[in-house]
Amino acid sequence: MRYNTQNKQLILEYIKKNKDKYVSVNDIQQELINQGNNINKSTIYRYIDQLLSEKLILKYTAEKKAYFKYIEDNESCHTHLHMKCKRCGLVVHLPTDLLSSIEESNQFKVEYETSIVQGICNLCQ
Ligand SMILES: [Zn+2]
Ligand SMILES: [Zn+2]
Repeated sequence: MRYNTQNKQLILEYIKKNKDKYVSVNDIQQELINQGNNINKSTIYRYIDQLLSEKLILKYTAEKKAYFKYIEDNESCHTHLHMKCKRCGLVVHLPTDLLSSIEESNQFKVEYETSIVQGICNLCQ
């Protein structure tokens, strides 16, 4: 089981290392293969599920693909919106109070954990 735990650690480290980005399962698999670890996607998904339930990472789905991001500060990433670059995956953390007046006036509760603003960052433009 030591080997398995190691793979989970490698996945977490990769997501952590790319904490300014959302990474896909393909990115994770490619990275592990580059490191000489042949790992299939269902195994990656299993570890991802564990990391999600341990609240170490966030999940976001776009265009039927899932993306993951390391939670730097557990509290704040649950309470603010993120902008993501569609090309390189760069993530920008938006101010926590950005939408609070809009939420209030519309009696609308935004789901910050699964919402994202998509665009193209200045490096990719
Ligand atoms: Zn954040
Ligand atoms: Zn970009």
